[in-house]
Amino acid sequence: MLILFDIDLTLISTFGSGMHALEQAGKDLFGASFTIKGVEFAGRLDPLIIDDLLRLNGRAVSAEHREAMRRGYATHLGPRLVQPGVSRPLPGVMALLDRVRARRDVEIGVLTGNFPETGGMKLRACGIDPGWFNVNAWGDESPHDPPDREHLPPVAMARYRERHGRAIEASRVVVIGDTPHDARCALVNGCRALGVATGLSSIGALRSSGFHRVVENLSETDDIEAWLLDGKMAR
Ligand SMILES: [Mg+2]
Repeated sequence: MLILFDIDLTLISTFGSGMHALEQAGKDLFGASFTIKGVEFAGRLDPLIIDDLLRLNGRAVSAEHREAMRRGYATHLGPRLVQPGVSRPLPGVMALLDRVRARRDVEIGVLTGNFPETGGMKLRACGIDPGWFNVNAWGDESPHDPPDREHLPPVAMARYRERHGRAIEASRVVVIGDTPHDARCALVNGCRALGVATGLSSIGALRSSGFHRVVENLSETDDIEAWLLDGKMAR
């Protein structure tokens, strides 16, 4: 079994630190009028968010601007994450990670819109070691243009094959996430999807976006572990 965790509002909360850090990066580069208002962040890939921000603020979507925003984002994110009370794992996450990490029949990874450097900073700030995750698909790893979250499960599955020397069937891959984007990327690839309502989407909204199962949070460790491992699509 391969379990792929979204990061923001699935594993952790950093109280919008990413959005604020991107806003600060934009203000440094382009002036105080730079705004993030009107751009959707939840469940989206960081490269697409940066392109939207550049467009919204009337700036060229160039390699130079993309790289400058990415660097500025990391610069501003670090100090914000370590402010008291900002960074925390969500309910049940540490216990569930302990449980699945202890199993030899389970491999875990992140499948996230985050860049690896800033996603790793967020996890570490919440007491989660990025090194626990061996089969990852990060936000800048879509092999297609334009990139899309839908492209990421196959990236993780290819990594699984490299690591284990054998392929994994899509039905043995579970994506855990807090937005309809997480459900969609799982479903179009034939993977199972577990929705967790610790983000902005309600339980009802997550159910109607196609998750095979939806939970309020990840704190029912035994029950969630059993569902993850039973291989069935149904709720
Ligand atoms: Mg999320």
